[in-house]
Amino acid sequence: MPDAPLDCLIIGAGPAGLTAATYLARFRRHLLLADAGASRARWIPASHNCPGFPFGVAGNELLARFRLQADAYGVPRAEARITRLQRHAEGFIASDGERHWQARTVILATGVVDRLPRLEGLEEAIAQGVVRLCAVCDAYEARDDMIGVLAPVEAAIDHAAFLRTFSRRVCALATDQDTPGRRWQERAAAAGVELWPAPVALTLAEGACEARFPDGRHLRLDTLYPVLGADAQSGLAAALGAELDGEGALVVDAHLQTTVPGLYAIGDVVSALNQISVAVGHAAIAATAVHRGLPPNYC
Ligand SMILES: Cc1cc2nc3c(=O)[nH]c(=O)nc-3n(C[C@H](O)[C@H](O)[C@H](O)COP(=O)(O)OP(=O)(O)OC[C@H]3O[C@@H](n4cnc5c(N)ncnc54)[C@H](O)[C@@H]3O)c2cc1C
Repeated sequence: MPDAPLDCLIIGAGPAGLTAATYLARFRRHLLLADAGASRARWIPASHNCPGFPFGVAGNELLARFRLQADAYGVPRAEARITRLQRHAEGFIASDGERHWQARTVILATGVVDRLPRLEGLEEAIAQGVVRLCAVCDAYEARDDMIGVLAPVEAAIDHAAFLRTFSRRVCALATDQDTPGRRWQERAAAAGVELWPAPVALTLAEGACEARFPDGRHLRLDTLYPVLGADAQSGLAAALGAELDGEGALVVDAHLQTTVPGLYAIGDVVSALNQISVAVGHAAIAATAVHRGLPPNYC
């Protein structure tokens, strides 16, 4: 273990963690950025709502730029999946099972992992925009498409209704219903949404997704939005007793501090809108709060 504890250990190098690292390096703090290398942003074929990119930017290109910016200020990075975080008299001790790091504060920027449908060729379908995972991000790009939402009935109808802003043809595919009842049919009809039962198969072909149903009917969808939830990567904080919301995301205060003093959380892992602009905003607030809360580093 190094002699001097880190001022801050940042866990996760997506947009949130990389932005926090750049801020803290510019505050001349002693830090380390540990990352397991699976940012959700890597799935983004092209983001068109990311501020500062009027013609869109691919997720991997954006991550490369964030890394370049952190590198410019000498941010040390470790390829590591942190598996254990414990309290310590002077802060925290983190471990990846082999190495240990001692830190006065920790920023958790570990994101979420999407629950995805079983669908052969899924990655390619996401790259082509046939399968989309975030309506707030990219429903504009799916405007006037034949759109399907795959989810348990209530979520399917709600998300389909949100998508009616963008297309007249939106179908809710209710994963938990063999024969959706009248209550659900009426609710879907009120939003101008077609309600379908659970499909027996989903396949990809020629830039579309085909859903087949038990009675032999099928639907050709230009765009499919699975809304099956996501697992917040909040386990390290939960093990320290940090408060979670009903979805497993971390509850934080106005400075992005969790209910465990010295442990901050930013980006998708926090109970908030899962967006790049939110993640970098969280990072700016948390990094500044961490710097102000640490003993001064006067030169
Ligand atoms: C298909 C798709 C399209 C999207 N389009 C847009 C868009 O157009 N606009 C927009 O604003 N948002 C979009 N998003 C959402 C955006 O990608 C996320 O909001 C953003 O990536 C969140 O950043 P983050 O840093 O919080 O988490 P992430 O980017 O997910 O990064 C988390 C990092 O933490 C690491 N990690 C997790 N656990 C550990 C651990 N124990 N130890 C070490 N490292 C760990 C992970 O490996 C990962 O590298 C899209 C998402 C998807 C999937």
